[in-house]
Amino acid sequence: MVEKKSLVCIVCPLGCNVEVELSGGQIDSLTGNKCKRGRDYAISECINPVRTLTSTAKVLDGELPLVSVKSEKPLPKKLLPECIKEINKIEVQAPVHISDRLICNILGTGINIIATCNVKDKSIAKSVIS
Ligand code: SF4
Repeated sequence: MVEKKSLVCIVCPLGCNVEVELSGGQIDSLTGNKCKRGRDYAISECINPVRTLTSTAKVLDGELPLVSVKSEKPLPKKLLPECIKEINKIEVQAPVHISDRLICNILGTGINIIATCNVKDKSIAKSVIS
């Protein structure tokens, strides 16, 4: 059975409409892309879609209770719910610095979860304010 998918390529602002025909999980035809990057994007979207994960993690003794985090590279879309559960399990001791690795090799993907902002230790933050 042939499955048809219509995608909008998001790799560049042109936003080409790409039409893909698949059968048995394999791509039979791919049209509408203007370049190889669009072809690679459409293949990834159909075979193994990936997304950069953004979320927050709990911080202990920080001036803020949470720190924003992201995956260093895009993760398989199907793993995102499990990755969010893993992030929700951790509590990071303040201070936290941008690019600190908070989870290494999440779910065996080889991809790290890193902090995307600084969170100071709350005792230091108070002494600076007073
Ligand atoms: S197919 Fe190529 S030209 Fe078209 S949106 Fe994607 S990257 Fe841009």
